Amino acid sequence: MKILVLNAGSSSLKYQLFNMETGNVLAKGTCERIGAGGAITHKVPGRDNFYEEPDFKNHGAALKTVLELLVSKEHRVIEDVNEIDAVGHRVAHGGAKCRQSTKVTESVIKYLETIVPINPLHGPPAIAGIKACTELMPSVPQVAVFDTSFYSDMEDFRYVYPIPYDFYENDKIRRYGFHGTSHRYVSAEVARVIGRPIEELKIVTCHLGNGSSITAVDGGKAIDTSMGFTPQEGIAMGTRSGTVDPTVVTYLMKTKGYTAQEVEDILNKKSGLLGVSGISNDCRNIAEAAAEGNYRAQLAMKILINGIKKYIGSYVAEMNGIDALVFTAGIGENQMDIRREVCKNMSYLGIEIDEDKNANFERGVPFNITKSGARVQTWIIPTDEEYMIANDTKRLAFE
Ligand code: AMP
Repeated sequence: MKILVLNAGSSSLKYQLFNMETGNVLAKGTCERIGAGGAITHKVPGRDNFYEEPDFKNHGAALKTVLELLVSKEHRVIEDVNEIDAVGHRVAHGGAKCRQSTKVTESVIKYLETIVPINPLHGPPAIAGIKACTELMPSVPQVAVFDTSFYSDMEDFRYVYPIPYDFYENDKIRRYGFHGTSHRYVSAEVARVIGRPIEELKIVTCHLGNGSSITAVDGGKAIDTSMGFTPQEGIAMGTRSGTVDPTVVTYLMKTKGYTAQEVEDILNKKSGLLGVSGISNDCRNIAEAAAEGNYRAQLAMKILINGIKKYIGSYVAEMNGIDALVFTAGIGENQMDIRREVCKNMSYLGIEIDEDKNANFERGVPFNITKSGARVQTWIIPTDEEYMIANDTKRLAFE
């Protein structure tokens, strides 16, 4: 069985073609600058990467190029597009109704269209990706996998905001949580590598990338998470502020005359590590500047690290314990100084890491950085959302 996984962003389309019998990736790549020129990087294991700059007018044009490449004489990994058995889509937001991965139907598409107002950045490209598949591969079943669905078991007191209840009931303003596919994957994976049933484990998963979120997974279920109504809530991120006193918003509007959109842009695109450091949203650049003694870079790092610690501590309190702590995504998988500082002075909670293992970790595989004798297992687990999407697609496409 061959499954194509698509992850559509506002101007990008990432793809991976899986052979589900072997679990191997046959080809993967990224289409960029959709709607404003175009570029595609296509990778086939064992062959040279292919790069081209075609004109991608929309997501449909990008998908067409991907399908042509997969069967082209030079880059072929399948003989015919009909060999693709199903398509799995990453969809950031499932709203209140799409609580689990689901087969795509007309009514699913219609529902996703109704929730675009609460998912304005990611909703339209995901819908465009689904429609492009329907047009180009009409007989191939499609499955939508939502970032929010891992949180569908959260209890009401964890997702209802303490604002007038009408806003929850009528406007669906609540905590949804994001990065769920990643948290679901790494929590299952840490249970596997530890060799214990996930039902027995209390796990905190830290997905630290350009966008970051932290989730408490108790017995295999996400019971709480740092992102909320949008991916804006939680810890400081590359360019997002994370949680700030909401009065900052109204104060800026009242005293500086900013519009709602302008404040949203400040908090979404000009804050976080970039906003504090004034240097970059890329944690590597900030770590470098901090090491050279730049005060604002050091401050940005401290804010990030303190935020992560606070969430871990609060989730230990909520779960009454912790068995495993997981670091994943760009920062979590690569930046050993962040992991070291987060885990410093956490021995009270049983979290202690081996500094040598943390510094000399192996990339791309689950890696145990637990100090010998520590109560809590601490692991680096490379995330694999695409694999998770392919698996859900295999399970649901032919139901
Ligand atoms: P992501 O959003 O998961 O791609 O993560 C992006 C973040 O990971 C950026 O802040 C990068 O600085 C950070 N990062 C650190 N080391 C690396 C690395 N070796 N490769 C990619 N990203 C890295």
